[in-house]
Amino acid sequence: MFYILGVLAAMLAVLLYRAAAFKAKYTGPRRSEPVKVNRERAQENLATLIRFATVSDADYDKTDKALFAAYRAKLKELYPNVTARAEYRELGNTAMLFKIKGRSDAAPTVLMSHYDVVPVVEERWEHPPFCGEVHDGCLWGRGTLDTKITMVGIMESLEDLLAGGFVPENDLYLSFGGDEEVAGISAPAVVDWMEENGISPALVLDEGGAVVDGVFPGVDKPIAVIGIGEKGMCEVEFTATSTGGHSSTPPVHTSLGKLAQTIVNIENHPFKAQVTAPVEGLLKKVGPYTPFPLRAVLANLWLFRGVLCALSQKLGGEINAMMRTTTAATMAQGAKQANVLPNVSTAKINMRLLNNVTADQALQYLQSQCAEDVTCRYTICREASPYASTDSDAWCKVEKAVGDTWTDAIVSPYLMIAGSDSRHFSRICRDVYKFSAMALTKEERGLIHNDNERIPVEKIGTTVEFFRRLIEML
Ligand SMILES: [Zn+2]
Repeated sequence: MFYILGVLAAMLAVLLYRAAAFKAKYTGPRRSEPVKVNRERAQENLATLIRFATVSDADYDKTDKALFAAYRAKLKELYPNVTARAEYRELGNTAMLFKIKGRSDAAPTVLMSHYDVVPVVEERWEHPPFCGEVHDGCLWGRGTLDTKITMVGIMESLEDLLAGGFVPENDLYLSFGGDEEVAGISAPAVVDWMEENGISPALVLDEGGAVVDGVFPGVDKPIAVIGIGEKGMCEVEFTATSTGGHSSTPPVHTSLGKLAQTIVNIENHPFKAQVTAPVEGLLKKVGPYTPFPLRAVLANLWLFRGVLCALSQKLGGEINAMMRTTTAATMAQGAKQANVLPNVSTAKINMRLLNNVTADQALQYLQSQCAEDVTCRYTICREASPYASTDSDAWCKVEKAVGDTWTDAIVSPYLMIAGSDSRHFSRICRDVYKFSAMALTKEERGLIHNDNERIPVEKIGTTVEFFRRLIEML
């Protein structure tokens, strides 16, 4: 009895010690030198760019090509130093690629953004969606958050640095697409061009995470989450067959019933949860700031992996989505009329893949969950990206620029659930990071792709500060 108590006490002491050691490691003082930013010019230039209604369309022929060209010309006009110093080319339908020559071409960096935006429903906006006006301390307009802001952040900081005679240590590329929202060909065209020219970036940074509040249970500090990978995405179509006829003489299961059974099977038997690299990274960084029992668990992941996996669905939608391949049944279709038995019924699920499951493996698993006479196939398929490193030079530079800009934030890796153009760069670069350089409240994050998108004006300058700190290290 005493022996068992002794062992338990020793285990608890080890847990407490390890939790304290983690805390000491991650809470050291952080230095932040102020950087000079022309906040008025940044705000004015962002407003100017917002006034171009650069809405992309999956059908490129329906895109207002003259307007996109005018936007590109305006961007170059607003930043004369960058334009004068850069080698510039246009690739794909809409990509702008600037190259600023550095002292070396050994470890180039690509900073990315996109200037196309999603459509608006004008009558639902409080102020016109392309007005670029300031109301109540916010600059209004589609694209202010997603993501003309980061384009302005990159261009503003580089414009000033170049004016001061700055030469980057390594070649610096700026890659801006105009068809990201419609998964267009421009970013892949830039990657093709780089591959043909033997350019292997050491670091790629695109939109993705942000500095966020209240996403992790029990942590009251803001967390700056930097995406180190993207999930894949598949649309899977299920088809069920059965004999048709009049609904007054039904079989035990109609084809729609078999589909329903299939969907319930899949929901009841989800893909297994696992502590993926981004989740492990996040838990290690955030762990020291969580309340006691959880802190001890997170400091001892080696011991509690199984418990965490079992709890994944309780840790919230975002954490759960980072820990497993997810499926969401979203569409179903049976007969065209209520008194007709459907010969064929179809349903669709939207699946988001972790990167250790291929689309084919996932499909095989789904097929194993199908009821009788139900088959499945994917209609759209995009595999997940590999994970970037969290101990390379590239990571350290991004981590430092983030930490020096948002000094009270925990800086952490995470897994991006949505998609971005930067996934194409995984073909030529290991360290592809996804971070939209802004501190965003939950409400502000909800404005992305939504009505009344706007950015508080004081945040514009902070985005510029971040890029200035980063570019100076490249
Ligand atoms: Zn975007």
